[in-house]
Amino acid sequence: MTGPTPATTTTARICPNCDGFATAAVPSGTRHRDGSRVLLLVDCGTCHGTGTVPLRPRLTAAHVEVAA
Ligand SMILES: [Zn+2]
Repeated sequence: MTGPTPATTTTARICPNCDGFATAAVPSGTRHRDGSRVLLLVDCGTCHGTGTVPLRPRLTAAHVEVAA
């Protein structure tokens, strides 16, 4: 079944800074007692770990808000 993708009405888009991979696991260099690495989870500074950013309303010449 193929066809045009229906228009979505979402109000968010994938974060352009992290491309949706909002949290990175960074090894700290130390290990737990079981030998596994201690990881630091670091969130993207732009989307704060959500992976999406809200769409900004665009303004036209008449300063009327238009869905982006
Ligand atoms: Zn992000």
